[in-house]
Amino acid sequence: MGGKVLQKIFPALGTVNTITLYDSFAPEIAEQVKKHVLDLHRRFSLFEQGSDIFRINEQAGIKAVPVHQDTFFVLFHALSYGRETQGAFDITSGAASRLWRDAIRSAQIPSESDIAGCRRLSGLTDLILDEAGGTAFLRRNGQQMDLGGIAKGYAADEAVRTLKKYKVHNALINFGGTVIALGREQKIGIQNPFQKSGVSMAELMVKNKAVATSGSYERGFFFEGVRYHHIIDPRSGWPADSGLLSVTLIGDSAMELDALATGICVLGEKNGLPLLERRGIEAVFINSDGEVKITHGLQGKFFLKSN
Ligand code: ADP
Ligand code: MG
Repeated sequence: MGGKVLQKIFPALGTVNTITLYDSFAPEIAEQVKKHVLDLHRRFSLFEQGSDIFRINEQAGIKAVPVHQDTFFVLFHALSYGRETQGAFDITSGAASRLWRDAIRSAQIPSESDIAGCRRLSGLTDLILDEAGGTAFLRRNGQQMDLGGIAKGYAADEAVRTLKKYKVHNALINFGGTVIALGREQKIGIQNPFQKSGVSMAELMVKNKAVATSGSYERGFFFEGVRYHHIIDPRSGWPADSGLLSVTLIGDSAMELDALATGICVLGEKNGLPLLERRGIEAVFINSDGEVKITHGLQGKFFLKSN
């Protein structure tokens, strides 16, 4: 084990991203990974004019738009996670996400009619992907897609693919809490949903695995004792109300975990478990009473903190 650690921290994908390389002194490799993530940001951003997602939204109900193959790949998989979660994970629920983003900013609950209007604009079957043409099309006017629940995961997988190409074998990728531990075993903290950001409730030992957390505690506000937050149940148009405060998933594909963690925050523990079992994914659930549950495969790798 050498003492050389190289770290690169940069904003992209609406979050803070950290690349840590161990036993390697190759700043140009970290730079390469960062450049690729910034490219992905430019394709996936909701807000940057000209991004693939911006253009799909702009042309909703009008015409199909050509997209980069990375975008096509993410859209294709996002649709399949959508089907597998019975619409609990739905990238076409962007109108509802935006409505609640504004609501959170102003700490005001939107009107029933606005919520219903946004709910009607969600629809997995309205996203038409044409593989031969490399295009994507949202069928109805006003429909909006949002990759906020999956983009960090895909970017983390891509970062690891790049590192492997350069023969980097020991690294930690942390893109806004979506983590991949490459090589040596590493300790990953799980945020305490009742505490301020950065305070962990438990620790996971992880080796050559990805970890993604989705938590309703992250962004939101209280009104008359009820919390409203940024993970939306596309079927109701309201913030998810499954009893889960946070879902952490451990597996091989960060993209898959990112999407399913968001979806299972909506679906709840009971409905989520069979799906995770089918895919060989381990999980930590924290519910609103502060109860913590883990799946069998995490025994010996999961440690609750005593505070
Ligand atoms: P984080 O909380 O780390 O931003 P998540 O993976 O939990 O990330 O994703 C939350 C984001 O995903 C929201 O900000 C929104 O953009 C989008 N989103 C919210 N609800 C859903 C949903 N049911 N399906 C797909 N995407 C969603
Ligand atoms: Mg997610």
